[in-house]
Amino acid sequence: MRSHLLNDATAEQYRRSVTEGVERVAATVATTDRPFTGVTVDALSPRIDEIDLDRPLHDTAAVLDELADVYLRDAVYFHHPRYLAHLNCPVVIPALVGEAVLSAVNSSLDTWDQSAGGTLIERKLIDWTTARIGLGPAADGVFTSGGTQSNLQALLLAREEAKAESLADLRIFASEVSHFSVKKSAKLLGLGPEAVVPIPVDHDKRLQTVALARELERCVGEGLVPMAVVATGGTTDFGSIDPLPEIAGLCEQYGVWMHVDAAYGCGLLASLKYRDRLTGIERADSVTVDYHKSFFQPVSSSAVLVRDVATLRHATYHAEYLNPRRMVQERIPNQVDKSLQTTRRFDALKLWMTLRVMGADGIGQLFDEVCDLAVEGWKLLAADPRFDVVVEPSLSTLVFRYVPAAVTDPAETDRANLYARKALFASGDAVVAGTKVAGHHYLKFTLLNPETTTADIAAVLDLIAGHAEQYLGDSLDRAS
Ligand SMILES: *Cc1c(COP(=O)(O)O)cnc(C)c1O
Repeated sequence: MRSHLLNDATAEQYRRSVTEGVERVAATVATTDRPFTGVTVDALSPRIDEIDLDRPLHDTAAVLDELADVYLRDAVYFHHPRYLAHLNCPVVIPALVGEAVLSAVNSSLDTWDQSAGGTLIERKLIDWTTARIGLGPAADGVFTSGGTQSNLQALLLAREEAKAESLADLRIFASEVSHFSVKKSAKLLGLGPEAVVPIPVDHDKRLQTVALARELERCVGEGLVPMAVVATGGTTDFGSIDPLPEIAGLCEQYGVWMHVDAAYGCGLLASLKYRDRLTGIERADSVTVDYHKSFFQPVSSSAVLVRDVATLRHATYHAEYLNPRRMVQERIPNQVDKSLQTTRRFDALKLWMTLRVMGADGIGQLFDEVCDLAVEGWKLLAADPRFDVVVEPSLSTLVFRYVPAAVTDPAETDRANLYARKALFASGDAVVAGTKVAGHHYLKFTLLNPETTTADIAAVLDLIAGHAEQYLGDSLDRAS
């Protein structure tokens, strides 16, 4: 069994085994003709159930054969141009090289004595990101597992900075289409059930600052404490960007922590054409970025950034065995002092490899391409009488629905759209997402693949219309 441990004696076997695994993935990716096979839970679960984990195969090739059967063949492939559903990007190869390196060396980024150069590389990437945002000389941050954790940490800092007699008095303001991690964070942070005040959005799904001003005034008037405003720099559902400069102004006026959740929109930080859409982000107290959404990085790769390094102390605890207080005086950099996690992957290496091989412009160009594609898709939808499209894209999301010419029952239109999404998924021809707008079922494209073309978009719209029409035809048959 020792032959399975990576060390000087097994380096050659390591090379062979990993290469075998990579070859299987490469062969699968090269021949994937649909984003999904349409496999069902009922078809797949017996294949996984029947595997006896207490009877190992002792052979990597045999296990990879088995894996092809239970996973690789039927996985959902984000690199395919007709995967248009969630905020998943195709990944860039330099990042995959980083992934291979970081998991084999297995540095843990909690302390300098478990990572050395890894710590410095992460710090440099944090500095690079804060400079791109424009957070100023005292800025800092740390890599996290994702936007959810970044938002939680940012709101923890905001809570600690707020002056309130009771947690029940604290209020967080976020648009009604902000990410649900804001509410989860409020709960984890011990705030009351009324803590997150939803602010209405305008026609373009952007937070209405007039309403925010009114709610801030009401909050203070009631003797409550505004703890944070969460502005979303690219909403998950619509890609809409809240009016950051106006929100920053209100935060300054009321002395409230401004958090910008740019989990999705952070790709604009590298954009060559659309960086100005994030203007105002530089006034934030904290920012969430998900490199695994719009920097084409594999999951996980995310960070929380803060304007003032001193605020990170709210996440600092010292342990004699790990990061004793004296190390701060000795200027030994222990990233655990800034993180909610302890043992932590060296995810930063993926972004490092990406920036060193492709450069930020390379990433920005790819993100610009998907933003441009969304505009083309919007034009297609707006010109097509079969569809109703919600907002003109600020990033790369399109929310729309099929609207049958002859049907007047809104519930029937809802069912046709739900059916079309399901039928499309089952066919595996394309994968799209769904959401609700004003109580009605809509469909959604999140475009993050520069390989997707307008022809792909047109073809998927035809598939959707076809499935919806089939549903409506069948339901007419049922009625008669
Ligand atoms: C995706 C997303 C999150 C959550 O990020 P994870 O990486 O999935 O944890 C938070 N906020 C917004 C706006 C997002 O789009």
